[in-house]
Amino acid sequence: MNKYVDKPAGEESLYADRVRVYPRAVRGIARNVKWALLIFCLSVYYVLPWIRWYRGPGRPDQAVLLDISTERFYFFDVTFWPQDIVLLTGGLILAAVGLFLVTSLFGRLWCGYACPQTVWTDLFMLVERWIEGDRNARMRRDAGPVTLDKVWRKLAKHGIWLFVAFWTGGGWIMYYVDAPTVTMDFWAGRAGAGVYGFTFLFTATTYVLAGWAREQVCTYMCPWPRFQSAMLDEQTLIVTYQGWRGEPRGHGKRDATTAAKLGNCIDCMACVHVCPTGIDIRDGVQLECIGCGLCVDACNDIMDRTGQPRWLIKWDTLARQAELAKGQAVEAIRLIRPRTLIYLSVLAIAVIAMGTGLAMRSLLEVSVQHERAPLFVRLHDGALRNAYTLKLVNKYDYDVNFTITVDGPPRATLQVAGASEVPGSVINIVVPADSVGAYRVFLDVPPGGKEAPNTDINFLLRDTTDGILLKRNANFMGPGARAGG
Ligand code: SF4
Ligand code: SF4
Repeated sequence: MNKYVDKPAGEESLYADRVRVYPRAVRGIARNVKWALLIFCLSVYYVLPWIRWYRGPGRPDQAVLLDISTERFYFFDVTFWPQDIVLLTGGLILAAVGLFLVTSLFGRLWCGYACPQTVWTDLFMLVERWIEGDRNARMRRDAGPVTLDKVWRKLAKHGIWLFVAFWTGGGWIMYYVDAPTVTMDFWAGRAGAGVYGFTFLFTATTYVLAGWAREQVCTYMCPWPRFQSAMLDEQTLIVTYQGWRGEPRGHGKRDATTAAKLGNCIDCMACVHVCPTGIDIRDGVQLECIGCGLCVDACNDIMDRTGQPRWLIKWDTLARQAELAKGQAVEAIRLIRPRTLIYLSVLAIAVIAMGTGLAMRSLLEVSVQHERAPLFVRLHDGALRNAYTLKLVNKYDYDVNFTITVDGPPRATLQVAGASEVPGSVINIVVPADSVGAYRVFLDVPPGGKEAPNTDINFLLRDTTDGILLKRNANFMGPGARAGG
């Protein structure tokens, strides 16, 4: 009977009670790789915000910081500005296509080994096993009456889970605000409501998702399993049960008489009992399988104990398994095929585009806006004055001194509003490091020349350190000019 169907045809329920999964501990290659990745991922997550990176006085010294207040994303030596959103979007596209490529080559490696849901669930299960014991002990205790032993173990488990969840939630906040500062402020009660609110939110999320929801997140909440099937084909390396070798399954010793009738699978259920999603890999490819390979480890152990060849469950392609089932010679694993070539090409294009974009990224940006109300004013000495707003973006980690001239009406003078400098044909503006400056600039043309309603001019801004020249087109308006003209 289908586990989702408990009523006659036409009355099937779309709801199925959760069958609690009690994964058993296992040792082997997949488990060791998972432990190594778990340690690596958690270390990166918890340690990264504490790495300091000097960027100059007055600038954040946190290596990785998404500073919402200043709208900057600091990543070691690179600072991303809101204007660099295209590069960040490109980075996300790069990661997505990389994931498509890995999935099409090796199945759900991401899900089984590096997805945060998997990593934190593994950590929570480790705590659970440490306090409540392995699968059988946990099942026995859960089915039994409430005892002091049961209560203290449950309390201890949930206490440690909450502690881990709290450090995880707090760690997340540290990517947005200076880690040492927010830590001190948090415990001194000086942090903002947002810090406390989001720490609580991420603590609760981690506790619920990794402690309680676990495989339900992968099976029902995550959209990835739904569309990853579009990336898999019969040449993808996935965790697969070699049915042709294992069946007919059955208990009992393999000797000369039974060996001919029974396959290698002794139906011990070890592969099912270690599975974090509680499925039976022998049923074939399933949406719930996250490709963790723990069933491979479990079965290898059983094969060793029963004196049979290892790898009854292994990483292989469906195409090769179909050939093996028919007793045909198997072809080599084909990593290069049209699907992977397409992903590789898109990935290469994205890498080149991103690299070029990053290398060519201008660290100085200038815009000139002509003030519209009024378009011009006549000064008491008869000169015509136009006003402009110059927006100067300095993404360098040092101050930049600009000399500004105008290529336009002869004898025109420039002046920064509110500055003490006398008007002249050249003005200087210093834009502090890592900042945006908006300056109101007057351009005055003395009387005596021919006055046109609209004259094309260019603002020429030269960075005096590097000699970089930036040119921005604008208009100088006179009598007869119309707004928008
Ligand atoms: S662990 Fe191996 S032998 Fe045991 S049930 Fe699974 S496939 Fe069969
Ligand atoms: S079936 Fe095997 S590979 Fe798939 S989730 Fe379960 S243990 Fe992991």
